Amino acid sequence: MSLCKKCGNRLKDGALYCNKCGSKIETDLQIPDMSLKESLEFVKTLQAKYTEIKDLESEVGDCENKLSHPLVHGRTATDPFRYFWKFLLASGIAVVVCFVLWLATCVNFYSTFPWPEALTIFYAIIPPGIFIFGLIYSIRASRADYDGLVEHTNQELQDRADLRKKYRELESRLADCKSELMKLDSSIPEKYRNYHSMTKIKYLLESGKASDLESAITCLNK
Ligand SMILES: [Zn+2]
Repeated sequence: MSLCKKCGNRLKDGALYCNKCGSKIETDLQIPDMSLKESLEFVKTLQAKYTEIKDLESEVGDCENKLSHPLVHGRTATDPFRYFWKFLLASGIAVVVCFVLWLATCVNFYSTFPWPEALTIFYAIIPPGIFIFGLIYSIRASRADYDGLVEHTNQELQDRADLRKKYRELESRLADCKSELMKLDSSIPEKYRNYHSMTKIKYLLESGKASDLESAITCLNK
């Protein structure tokens, strides 16, 4: 007994067209003779393959989606003056404050303070001190920012390279899986080459409504 390759309908001997789906019969399908146990094993194997392919396809899609996002590195260039402005402002304020204090000192204490020159020098040192401290601090901080940016960029490029590698691996695994599946399920009608039909066939076999794969497919086709 042979079955239509497309829909699984039983074909009359020498039929040129399937009387159910109307497809032309070039090569009819011979479902391999299998015992009930073998049929069940076969169905379970196919189910596992369909699941594996579905999972791989979703992983491949995931990778494609991630790869389609542009890289963000280089967008956040560091501003070398980011820290410096604050210190420039602070030293400006210090100039004013120290000048006022110095004037006050001149008026009130100059006559009594033992080393007035020392006070003048003290007030004169504070603003440039803040300025120099700020300059050194901002250079170091900018440098750290830059190093961080370089590291971030390298990390991103590395991640992207890893992702591409993973994508290629997944794609080749998917292709292998599909060709393995083709060897397996080419012996059953196209209509039933899916997980859902396998579940139905499994039910027919397990419940005793069909004794092997061929009779299960015939049952489904009724
Ligand atoms: Zn048909």
